[in-house]
Amino acid sequence: MNMQGELQLGADELAVQRWRADFPILQTCVHGKPLVYLDNAATTQKPLAVIEAEDRYYRHDNSNVHRGVHSLSQRATDAFEAARVKVQRLLNAASPNEIVFVRGTTEAINLVAQSYGRSRLREGDEIIVSGLEHHSNIVPWQMLCQQVGAKLRVIPVNDAGELKLEAYERLFGPHTRMVALAHVSNALGTVVPVKAMTDIAHAHDVPVLLDGAQAIAHVPVDVQALDCDFYAFSSHKLYGPMGVGVLYGKAELLNAMPPYQGGGDMIRSVSFEHTEYNVLPFKFEAGTPNVAGVIGLGAAIDYLSAIGFEAIAAHEHALLVYATRAVEQIPGLRLIGTAHDKTGILSFVLKDAHAHDVGTILDHQGIAIRTGHHCAMPLMERFGVPATARASFALYNTRREADALVAGLEKVVELFNT
Ligand code: PMP
Repeated sequence: MNMQGELQLGADELAVQRWRADFPILQTCVHGKPLVYLDNAATTQKPLAVIEAEDRYYRHDNSNVHRGVHSLSQRATDAFEAARVKVQRLLNAASPNEIVFVRGTTEAINLVAQSYGRSRLREGDEIIVSGLEHHSNIVPWQMLCQQVGAKLRVIPVNDAGELKLEAYERLFGPHTRMVALAHVSNALGTVVPVKAMTDIAHAHDVPVLLDGAQAIAHVPVDVQALDCDFYAFSSHKLYGPMGVGVLYGKAELLNAMPPYQGGGDMIRSVSFEHTEYNVLPFKFEAGTPNVAGVIGLGAAIDYLSAIGFEAIAAHEHALLVYATRAVEQIPGLRLIGTAHDKTGILSFVLKDAHAHDVGTILDHQGIAIRTGHHCAMPLMERFGVPATARASFALYNTRREADALVAGLEKVVELFNT
């Protein structure tokens, strides 16, 4: 892990106090203690700008999109489509038509597996995934494998929680048809070298889907520079509303793919004999979308752009370095995931305490962390643990909160040693 971020800590702490004021929930107390929210990899809290954007929409503009000629519907449609352009710019996609709104990362991956995968893959074909994946980048491919008779091949993980790249290269063969990789691991924080891995896949003429759920708020994402074929993320991990996500896909691929779901909005004309599908991106957006959620996502992107993604990443890295050094001093604590390149995620086990006990004891001190298998059961098995405790940082976390985590963990150790 790069330790240089530490020097910036003082300056960041001043800025972070200003950012904290934008998040009303951070004033909450839990069990009589001020909330220390360190479960950001599960979902991030929402700034006022996002809450107010949804509120404003429902108070003033609520209407269905792409349908009415009346003013409210026009306003709702304009705001909805403006959010699409914000996502396009965030990802540096070539066109807003390459941005498909879905429910979340999970739905985006299922869309690609069922639409692209089912129309292109045949018996004996192979899909490469990695040992770091969240269940939502495993199970949709497994379902596809069952449907068409394809097979999953898995890139192994080293003891630091990094992918073994030589092994990755060896997995390619004449039947490899798809590579699906996490950009950042949700359980360990490992940043995967997705650009190099995409280049390798393309050298074998294989398309790449990147699961960006844990990357989008923490590392720069430029889909044209990455040259990935698909990129998926969830709004709620980017300080935006739940129930909204994005599938980016290269236009030529999306154009060639059959629709995922049928219904309103995804058609140009329908008769009982024949249906003509709509153009991109509407072909993949059947039914009434989460308009308020999409507008809220647009507000989140504006909010984060004003702060600056680089400033946020620098702050989170400094916090990771600081907290890593501190928790390493705790007797009996084993860090799971010590990759060279990591986002602000600390996954660990304590010698005598089950992860759930750790989580419960911390909760009584107002500290929210995640415990369990983190929807990455094969990864837990790789490290020989049933579960870990995971603290994950966001832009509003402070050094004092990292200290509270360490003090809480020391209390756990004390309780289990007496
Ligand atoms: N992939 C990764 C890496 C994740 O962390 C998550 C959420 N924990 C998902 C996919 C699924 O995201 P969602 O539940 O928002 O669809």
